[in-house]
Amino acid sequence: MPLVACPVCEKPISKHAHTCPSCGEPDPLNHLAKSKFLSLVVWLIVLVVAGYVAWFYLIPMLIEFVRHQ
Ligand SMILES: [Zn+2]
Repeated sequence: MPLVACPVCEKPISKHAHTCPSCGEPDPLNHLAKSKFLSLVVWLIVLVVAGYVAWFYLIPMLIEFVRHQ
């Protein structure tokens, strides 16, 4: 049976395990995919907020700056 390291406790577990027998992490093989997805969502939110700030604060500031030249 192929063994992989649990992403939570790093003990070897079966690739077919649905829960980690050592730490009880449910679905340990999808844990990494889940945290990757979460960090992607966080980055997306950061980008949207940065875009919002740029659009509503930086661009009017730039326009004002250019107008006063
Ligand atoms: Zn574990």
